[in-house]
Amino acid sequence: MDDLYSCDLVVVGAGFYGATVAERAAARGLRVLVVDRRDHIGGNAYTEVHPETGIEVHRYGPHLFHTPNAEVWNYLNRFTGFTDFQLRVWSSHRGQLYPLPVNLATISQFFGRHLSPAEARALIAAQTEGLDPQAATNLEDKAVASIGRPLYEAFIRDYTAKQWQTDPRLLPAATIARLPVRYTTDTRYFSDRFQGLPVDGYTAIFERMLDSPRVALRLGLDWFDMRHAAPAGLPVVYTGPIDRYFDYAEGRLGWRTTRFEAETVAVGDYQGTAIVNYPDAGVPFTRIVEYRHLYPDRPYPADRSVIVREFPRFAAGDDEPFYPVDTAEDRARLVRYRARAEAEPDVLFGGRLGTYRYLDMHQAIAMALRDWETLAPRFG
Ligand code: FAD
Ligand code: UDP
Repeated sequence: MDDLYSCDLVVVGAGFYGATVAERAAARGLRVLVVDRRDHIGGNAYTEVHPETGIEVHRYGPHLFHTPNAEVWNYLNRFTGFTDFQLRVWSSHRGQLYPLPVNLATISQFFGRHLSPAEARALIAAQTEGLDPQAATNLEDKAVASIGRPLYEAFIRDYTAKQWQTDPRLLPAATIARLPVRYTTDTRYFSDRFQGLPVDGYTAIFERMLDSPRVALRLGLDWFDMRHAAPAGLPVVYTGPIDRYFDYAEGRLGWRTTRFEAETVAVGDYQGTAIVNYPDAGVPFTRIVEYRHLYPDRPYPADRSVIVREFPRFAAGDDEPFYPVDTAEDRARLVRYRARAEAEPDVLFGGRLGTYRYLDMHQAIAMALRDWETLAPRFG
């Protein structure tokens, strides 16, 4: 183990946060040890080729890159080109297919009449009279104040309950604020200026980011099984779950995980699009992802396709923690974990798991670039 630590910095976790810090540190001439408990790089953005069909799949759920941040976009473009893919999501409610997020076409179709933007606004205004989305403190109040109760009950209430296994009244309003409401027929899922998919998949980005003689990569190693041998004072960037770092001393933070059920189907096109959500309570999964549609120009087989159904649930035991649930109780616990984290002078807690924040990829990268600027002076 000793020569493992002949480095200037340890990065725990080879996801976007860890890989960005490692890349920046190596570019500054530092020697970096990157460890990940998984047997691959890329964190949750990891992509791989499905052996039976050659279709590229995302092992931890579909990852669509989008950002308004030119700095992050330019940074990532050093390691990959992007396709012009823009995500469009459909929602299958009571046997009908609707575009999401809620837009003029969704409202018109749901209420059975072609509405003008002004008519749609007036209809939603009547349903949300006296409600202020800015004042809402939980997901349900925010959604009802934004789109009215009928659309909320059709597309949001049961989907959210399935996805978070938590009453929507106990979830933060910010979670639903991720989805826009549009009075146009713009059916893109994201509004960001920069959007696309990496031309060679996500894993190739990480291979390029970590391709430096100054980066030593150790996969399949858990930091908690090796940290006892690390020299005192060695700086560590930790991107695993913050509660695990402190051995759950303040109790467990709520995390959501997902079971992915993949199936190879004997048709060239199963659902005609990449993502179809199933918001009805009677359907046990939240959505079906058909990966071939992420790269429509690739020469994938015409007679087979890969679909993945997603079954979210609370994370327990060894489950992969995917999303912070972030109830009021979680937030109170997090304050105590943050106080503990501040008392660790040699450890920087970063990324989605390390900060218990619902970060998209571009936000994890932005956070890493910013944190690196703060950390770098320490190395002279
Ligand atoms: P991670 O990618 O989780 O990396 C952390 C790494 O640390 C992991 O590889 C883990 O194995 C490792 N680790 C943890 N503990 C230890 C330990 N003790 N020892 C060693 N290694 C350890 N973002 C988007 O922008 N667009 C999307 O469409 C999108 N879709 C998503 C869909 C799903 C289902 C999920 C779960 C996330 C999605 N995200 C999306 C969010 C995206 O995954 C995160 O923004 C990104 O992964 C954050 O990077 P990170 O480096 O903080 O964490
Ligand atoms: N959501 C919903 N119905 C949908 C899609 C999303 O109710 O068809 C809610 C759900 O609570 C979700 C939130 O909107 O967590 C934000 O959507 P996003 O696609 O960002 O969710 P994620 O998969 O990242 O949780």
